[in-house]
Amino acid sequence: MKTTRLAWVLVPLLFFAPPAGAHFQVETPPKHEDRLIRFPDVAGYQTLVVDLHTHSVFSDGHVWPSIRVDEALRDGLDAMAVTEHLEWQPHRADLPHPDRNRAYQRTQEALPKGSELILIPGSEITRQAPADHMNAIFITDANALLQAAPNPPKIEASTPEERTLLESLPEQLQQDGVIDYFMAANQWPAEEAVRAANRQGAFVFWNHPFFSRAAPDAMARMTDFHRALIEAGQLHGIEIANGAYYSEEAHALALQHGLTMLGVSDVHDLIDWDYPPRFGAHRPVTLAFAKERSADGIREALFAGRTVVWFKNLLIGQEAELKPLLQAALGMEDTAYRDDLDVLDLTITNDSDADIQLRNRSPYTFMQEGDDLTVPRHGKLKLSVRTVQRLPQVELEFEVSNALVAPKQRLRLSHRLKVGE
Ligand SMILES: [Zn+2]
Ligand SMILES: [Zn+2]
Repeated sequence: MKTTRLAWVLVPLLFFAPPAGAHFQVETPPKHEDRLIRFPDVAGYQTLVVDLHTHSVFSDGHVWPSIRVDEALRDGLDAMAVTEHLEWQPHRADLPHPDRNRAYQRTQEALPKGSELILIPGSEITRQAPADHMNAIFITDANALLQAAPNPPKIEASTPEERTLLESLPEQLQQDGVIDYFMAANQWPAEEAVRAANRQGAFVFWNHPFFSRAAPDAMARMTDFHRALIEAGQLHGIEIANGAYYSEEAHALALQHGLTMLGVSDVHDLIDWDYPPRFGAHRPVTLAFAKERSADGIREALFAGRTVVWFKNLLIGQEAELKPLLQAALGMEDTAYRDDLDVLDLTITNDSDADIQLRNRSPYTFMQEGDDLTVPRHGKLKLSVRTVQRLPQVELEFEVSNALVAPKQRLRLSHRLKVGE
């Protein structure tokens, strides 16, 4: 009988287990409007807030899809995809759902009447290295992305470490045949599943490339498998932020290979546990710059690569998207010289959810601040600029410390102020 080394099966699974969620006692429920994720539209596009990687009990998540809908509404998302693992089905004894479109249907049913939340059908193709995990979204039939061979190889431990690993697994997974099923589904080549998704017009992206058995150092690296898919036009995006993690290496791969950059929650538990709004936390999201507020609009924006990732307090994207976003978010008002001093007063406004961190790159100095400024989210910062003499116009130049156009490379912004306007 064909055997498979245990570690090849288990290590990826254990790697992807969500970290034990910290439970936060919330004394008073937060007002929903406090946690709405809001960024301004930019010239010609609507800025849509999307989370394209989430889970429910239909794979290894711990909630019914209706909870995902409720969380998305609380966060003010424009769109969400529930993307269940097709092959990894730990609840299969209780929720066999041979029709893999059920998770999407149940999510749709949970949508309140009149809700404008856009639901995007998707699945997570879940394989062993080198393919690892990929999400296919805008699919029309999840079942076509899955084939389980009738006689999967049996897993056997070949070292004491592997035996310990096997014994550490919940008994239930063995009894319910979860691992056998995963092995059976892995027999069908992963590229076939990706091809099937592409035949449905899917947008396919590489999930958490920094969590792989092929990368025990958590460094994302291009593989021959993914390179071939990219060259065939079948892999279109990459997660550079997933849950609590950002990867500079994945960010570099996105730029190098022209992959659309994505930030996702990959939530399995509750958004409120993983990103407690009480502490001002938010899930990682992708901002898609769409010509219209619709699933088609988001799909077009993703294929065109018009995204910015918002992860913790970082905004990550290409200059073509990031610059207009920051320009739309920041404003200057009340610029005037004082009567008694040759000092220019002004107010910088911020119409976004990010605390925007600016580093002064102009020759002027500020009276109340050093070179590092923070313009609070949906707030203002008053500044007095020493321009030495009264000038009719002033060019202010900043580096945005929390806006990355490439790994370690920050966005530069300049703003020409006409005094008195
Ligand atoms: Zn995954
Ligand atoms: Zn996932």
